[in-house]
Amino acid sequence: MTAPLLLVWICAAFALELAVGIAVVLVRRHRRLALAAIPAAAPLAAGTAPAWSGWREFRVVRREFEDAAQTQCSFYLVPVDGVALSAFKPGQYLTFALDVAGSTGTAAPRPITRCYSLSDRPHPLHHRITVKRVGPPPLAQSLPPGVASNHLHDRVHEGDVLRVRAPAGRFVIEPDDTATPVLIAGGIGITPLLAMLNGWLAERPDRPIHLYYGLRHSREHAFRSWLEQQAAAHPHFHLSVACSRPEPGDEPGRDFQHLGHIDIDWLRRTLPAGRHRFYLCGPPALLGSVLPALRDWGVAPEDICHEAFGPASGEAPPAPSPDAPAARTPAFDVRFARSGRTLAWDGHDASLLAFAERHAVAVDSGCRAGSCGSCETRLIDGQVDYAEPPDHDIAPGHCLLCVGTPRPGLVIDA
Ligand SMILES: Cc1cc2nc3c(=O)[nH]c(=O)nc-3n(C[C@H](O)[C@H](O)[C@H](O)COP(=O)(O)OP(=O)(O)OC[C@H]3O[C@@H](n4cnc5c(N)ncnc54)[C@H](O)[C@@H]3O)c2cc1C
Repeated sequence: MTAPLLLVWICAAFALELAVGIAVVLVRRHRRLALAAIPAAAPLAAGTAPAWSGWREFRVVRREFEDAAQTQCSFYLVPVDGVALSAFKPGQYLTFALDVAGSTGTAAPRPITRCYSLSDRPHPLHHRITVKRVGPPPLAQSLPPGVASNHLHDRVHEGDVLRVRAPAGRFVIEPDDTATPVLIAGGIGITPLLAMLNGWLAERPDRPIHLYYGLRHSREHAFRSWLEQQAAAHPHFHLSVACSRPEPGDEPGRDFQHLGHIDIDWLRRTLPAGRHRFYLCGPPALLGSVLPALRDWGVAPEDICHEAFGPASGEAPPAPSPDAPAARTPAFDVRFARSGRTLAWDGHDASLLAFAERHAVAVDSGCRAGSCGSCETRLIDGQVDYAEPPDHDIAPGHCLLCVGTPRPGLVIDA
């Protein structure tokens, strides 16, 4: 090939690469603007039924990391059927059936169920979730990392389709002109609170709202520029960040306002006088320390709302209430009719799910927290107790194994 011809080829290749690059940027920007410019969905009527029943297919149209550490990734989901989305209540979550076949290494992989909070306010064309990659527990590094979160981060790409159940959950913000909302987030617990905050700023920008956000260091600060822009634009929005383990370069005042964990002394020092309603979401350590401290401070129980994200696989579900009949009565039989097993319940398992698993009775499970409904099972006879009403609306004649404990005479279709 002659030198002039080679030069022409190089120029043409360069021009083509430039054109493709510009086209990609324009398509991405158009998609962002299209998502941003659409008006908010109509407000949700009180006591609304689920927006759809069963599983609905959603296409991932956009993914993006929300923190500098790139451990928290947002997924924008558009319904494949093209029908506009109805509004949900900020604070609710979606339930996903994820096909992790091939990633678990087990001989017979099957879909797993997980819940993810909606991390944006209602929008007629898309839902957004934000997922944190979960590693093995710090003290058991040989265990496999989180199945669903790693699957979403590594294997779910723009264009892929996911099966999703309708928004659900009772952890929602209650508009009340006599109480100022105080949102308290630990790590990825920011997601439902972000939806609440975004909805509040859109609908009640003239009313005060506080967000206390606890992190280890500023690289984990998700949605940082959005939060800082909102705080600058809304004089009634008060953003306060705590870093428990700042990294070199993290500066007090610029990157965080409080060194350490979120604690009651900090809240008392910084909150103005008046009635507040507290919404907490975060790891067990945050809930375990701040919830009792709020009660000791004299906050009324109806002004404290919280949600915990676990447990999924591995972690133990909460122990049954000592008042539950199952923990008070002597051992009695529970019958798993389909498996043909009759087993003695002695009150030591935290739930029917843990009881069934300990005795190798095959049952489905998902969130293990009463949210997703994967372990919903038909009641043939008897009754099941719950320490607190589960988030999942249980179908008549059914029970939830993961947060339920049996009464004598229970027979279930498992
Ligand atoms: C209502 C609700 C809303 C939620 N919203 C969000 C959200 O907005 N964003 C978000 O990121 N998450 C959210 N979650 C949590 C989410 O549903 C999952 O629980 C989370 O992603 C972890 O799931 P996983 O499959 O990745 O981890 P799993 O596979 O369930 O593992 C969890 C942990 O257990 C460890 N483990 C594995 N095997 C064992 C074993 N044998 N013994 C002990 N430990 C073991 C794993 O290493 C990991 O650390 C929410 C949960 C609920 C209930």
